[in-house]
Amino acid sequence: MPDCPCGSGSALDACCGPVLSGERVAGSPEELMRSRYTAFAVGDADHLLRTWHPRTRPARLTLDPELTWLSLQVVAAGGDTVEFIARYRGPTGRGFQREVSRFAQRAGRWFYVDGTAS
Ligand SMILES: [Zn+2]
Repeated sequence: MPDCPCGSGSALDACCGPVLSGERVAGSPEELMRSRYTAFAVGDADHLLRTWHPRTRPARLTLDPELTWLSLQVVAAGGDTVEFIARYRGPTGRGFQREVSRFAQRAGRWFYVDGTAS
């Protein structure tokens, strides 16, 4: 069984898989953030749109096929924010995105609101 791309050390089926498939709802901003990273890694744009707050959600989302997501490191998680470093490989080499993501709860579910580079 493949390891979950989010780096939890668990298998995909025991970690972000059920959140992506809708079997399970993310119980915290960190869990949702991990599932969204995994969605980027496996190319699941639907999950990204589904978990995006309606107030900030783009009309459509095209994932960059030239980016390969390599790893996720959660730097800090608390309250309604998660700070992380996501590493990728693109056409010009390796890079990373460091961001503080903000989440909000709506009808008992967590949604991604927006993020700022940190
Ligand atoms: Zn995971």
